[in-house]
Formats: sequence, structure tokens, C-alpha cells
Amino acid sequence: MEVIKPKTNYTKDSEEINLFFEKYQDAQQNSMELEVENMDVDVETVHPSKYIQKLRAVANREGDKIIFELDDIQAFEDDGNVTNGLVRKIMTNTWRYIELIYRICDKLMPVPMNPIGHMDDVLDVIMQHRKDKDQSRVPEDRTRFPSALTRRYSLYLKPLNSEKTLAIREVNGSNVGHLVTVKGIITRVSDVKPFLLVAGYSCEMCGDEVFQEVTKKNITPLMMCPSEKCQKNNVKGKLYMQTRTCKFVPFQEVKMQELVNKIL
Ligand SMILES: [Zn+2]
Repeated sequence: MEVIKPKTNYTKDSEEINLFFEKYQDAQQNSMELEVENMDVDVETVHPSKYIQKLRAVANREGDKIIFELDDIQAFEDDGNVTNGLVRKIMTNTWRYIELIYRICDKLMPVPMNPIGHMDDVLDVIMQHRKDKDQSRVPEDRTRFPSALTRRYSLYLKPLNSEKTLAIREVNGSNVGHLVTVKGIITRVSDVKPFLLVAGYSCEMCGDEVFQEVTKKNITPLMMCPSEKCQKNNVKGKLYMQTRTCKFVPFQEVKMQELVNKIL
């Protein structure tokens, strides 16, 4: 039997979200634009879109969060700028779309306006480490590092204001992969702990750095060096985890309980 799967066109959706990032102006910006139109200036340079401004702040290290408001993209959709149903798709296949939106942010990230002097980033540490080790080394191409290591921001999705909040017990299997909004009472909050996002290792044989992206709570550490050098020499280089080249994000666990009026 032939199974017909509905095709999701991620390329088209990416292009549309990209357009949203570049063009979306909220109501406040729109009124400013009207004023500018009377003057002889380029609107986009004077008032870049709301999300380009957010990216700019990240690039200039004035912020480390991108809050993607679904109400904004809903307004953009309602105005007919993107295909109907895009917001629904984001809400029902959220994990996949978060990755997509991350990639769009990476792509659109502007260059910082001012040179940044201080080093505070895992990647800077690695580069310095390599330079110290080998002065004659050619500058490394940043693209060979996992993108989670080079990002200086976190992406958050803000649900639609109109979205119905669920009671905890209403969340069930049909919500898997969806963005859900729940209402409850927080009864316990853990301390802030570091959560490993990218594990960095170095090989005892060839000195190569190897990275492993972590997507789950538990990881199986890499043991053997996969580098070309070690393969060519036919040796099994042992990998050692290097905390200096690992990327951690703050992480906190909360316990939630049903609201009293929902239990009755
Ligand atoms: Zn090796």
C-alpha cells in the first residue's frame, strides 16, 4: 500500500520566515515610517524591521535573546505577506521550526557595528588556544564548528495571546511536538545548573578538537578520535573532554501543579 504523506515545504517556509524577519514592522514603527516618507531618506536604513533590530542588538552584544512573537508573524500572515497557515505549522511542529528560525537568525545576523575587544565566548577561547599552540596556523573557518557553539543568543517563542491555556492534565499525546500553553502553579524551582549544549574534546594522538552537539539530557561521550589524521595513521586516538571548549547554558527545572480550581 502506498502511503501518501503530506509534504511540508520547509524551503518555502524558511523563505517566508526570512521575509518576515526582514520586513516586519510593528504598529509603532509603521507610524514612524509615515513621517520618514516625507523626507528624502531610505526607510530601511533609518528604521530596520523589528527583528533585524533584535539581531543587531545580539551582534553588538547588547542582548542575548531573540523573542519570536507569534502574534507578530500572525499579523504579517493576516496582511497576506506569507502563506495562510504558517503560524499553525510553527505551533504544531515547533521543534523543527525552532531549528529553522535559528538558522535564519544565523544567516541574517549583521556584523557588529563596533569591534569587540574582549573575549568571552567559547569559540574565541578555542581560536586563541590554537593560535598559542601553533603560530603559523592558518585562520580557521568558523563554519566548521557546530552552529550551537558560535551562537551568542537563545531563541524563545512567545505564544499567541489568543491561544487557549490548558490545564496540566489536558496535555496529552496529541500535543507532542506542539507548542502548548499551560496554566498551573509552580511548586518547586531547582537551582540554576549548567546544561551542556556542545561537548568539546581533544585527541591525545593528533591534538584535534572534536565537538558533539547535545540535544538530550543524557549524553554518551565520544571516545575515539574521528579525525582524518588518526584514520590515516591507523591509530585509535583517545578523546578527552575539555571543559574550556564546552558550551554550557544556564538551566533550571520547575515543578508545576494543577490550579486548585481545576482539580474540583
Ligand atoms: Zn586524533
